[in-house]
Amino acid sequence: MPVPLFDLSRLGPRVDEAVKEAALRVLGHRGYVLGAEVEAFENDLTAYLGGGHAIGMSSGTDAQLALLMAMGIGGGDAVISTPYTFFATAGCIHRTGAEILFCDIDPTTFMMDPESLRSLLASLKRDPRGFLLSPKGNRIRLIVPIHLFGALCDMDGLGAVAAEYGVEILEDAAQSLGAEYASKDGVKKAGLIAPTSYVSFYPSKNLGAAGDAGVALCLDAEMAEKLRRIRNHGMEQRYYHKVVGGNFRIDAIQAAVLRAKLPFLDTWNATRRTNAATYREAFSGAGLLDRVTLPAEPHLASGLKNHHIFHQCVIRVPKRDAVMAHLAEKKIGCAIYYPVPLHLQECFAYLGHKPGDFPVSEQAALESLALPIFPGLTGDEIEEVVGGIRAALS
Ligand SMILES: *Cc1c(COP(=O)(O)O)cnc(C)c1O
Repeated sequence: MPVPLFDLSRLGPRVDEAVKEAALRVLGHRGYVLGAEVEAFENDLTAYLGGGHAIGMSSGTDAQLALLMAMGIGGGDAVISTPYTFFATAGCIHRTGAEILFCDIDPTTFMMDPESLRSLLASLKRDPRGFLLSPKGNRIRLIVPIHLFGALCDMDGLGAVAAEYGVEILEDAAQSLGAEYASKDGVKKAGLIAPTSYVSFYPSKNLGAAGDAGVALCLDAEMAEKLRRIRNHGMEQRYYHKVVGGNFRIDAIQAAVLRAKLPFLDTWNATRRTNAATYREAFSGAGLLDRVTLPAEPHLASGLKNHHIFHQCVIRVPKRDAVMAHLAEKKIGCAIYYPVPLHLQECFAYLGHKPGDFPVSEQAALESLALPIFPGLTGDEIEEVVGGIRAALS
C-alpha cells in the first residue's frame, strides 16, 4: 500500500471550503495588498498566541531577513546559529553582510544546546570596549536557535547563557506554531518566548498558506513599527522612504486563507501528536526500538500537551539510505531533513569549514529520516511505514 509523505487533501472538505471562501472573498473585493484582510489575520494570530505583535510577511525567510534588518545586523557583526537545519537561517545572516558562526547541536534533540553555546562563547575574546568578537573580529550580536521539527529548544537555558554574554536571541519558530513552553516565567507559545521571532506558512508547515507566506513576531511595539516599515520599502507615507526596506508584504489572499485555517491548527497539532504516539506503539510492537531512535521529546516532563507538535517525525536509523531505498520501492513516502549540513554547503565554502568541524550535525544528516505524520494519516498507513522499515532492517 503506497503511503504519501504529505497530503493536504486529507484536511477534508470543511477546510477546503473555508479556504476557497476566503480566497474568493479577496478576489471579490480586490484588496490584494495589505489592508483589512492582513490586519484581521495579524490580530487573530496575536490573540491565538496570547500577545505580542504580528507583522505578516511574504515568507518565513523574508520575515527573518526583515527582523535582521530591523535589528541593524550587518557588516562587522556575527550571528550564531546551528548547521543542521533548513538553509534560510544561515542564508539570511549571509545576506545582511554579517558573519555566520555555527554552534553544533545536541545529539538527541538536533537543536542548539546551552552548553555548546556556552563553550563557543567562552572561547571568544572581547575587544577593549567589552564586545565579544568572533575569531574573524566581528562583534557577536545575536543567536538564532531553531525549534526543529515542532519541538522546542531549551529557551531558559539559552536565554541565561545569552544574557551572561550580552547577546540577543531571535527565535526561529518556522516549524513550531502552536507549541507551548513552560518557561521560568510561565507558559509561553513558540514565537513569543524570545523578544523576536518568525514563523513560516509554507504550504507543508503545520499552518500552511496557499503559497508562500510568513510572519515576524515581536514583543516590543517600536520594533513592530520598524518591521511594518521595512516590510514596505521603508515607507510610512507613500513614496517617502525613512529607511531602506524591501517588498516583504504578505498577500491579502494568503492572510485570508491563513485566517480561515488558524481555528483548526490546535486540532491538527493534536492529530500529529496522536500519530507520533501510534508510531511509538508500532515501532515497539515491531521490536525495533533497539535499532530505531524515535524523535526526542525534550519537554515531555513539563506536562504541557503541546510541548512538541511534530511538524516532522524524524527518526534516526542505521543504514538510512538502504532503508530509504526500500521504502521508495514500496512507494512509502519519506525524506531527509537535511542531507547536507549548512557548514558544508557549496555557497558557504568561503567560511572554510571541512567535514568533521560539526560532527553531531554531520551524523544527524547521515542518519535522520522523516516519516509521514500529517493530519489525516491513518493507523494502517503508520503500520505500513513501520512494516517497511522492519523489512528493510531484517
Ligand atoms: C520553512 C522554514 C524556514 C523558511 O520559511 P519559508 O516560508 O519557506 O521562507 C526557515 N526556517 C526553518 C527552520 C524552516 O523550516
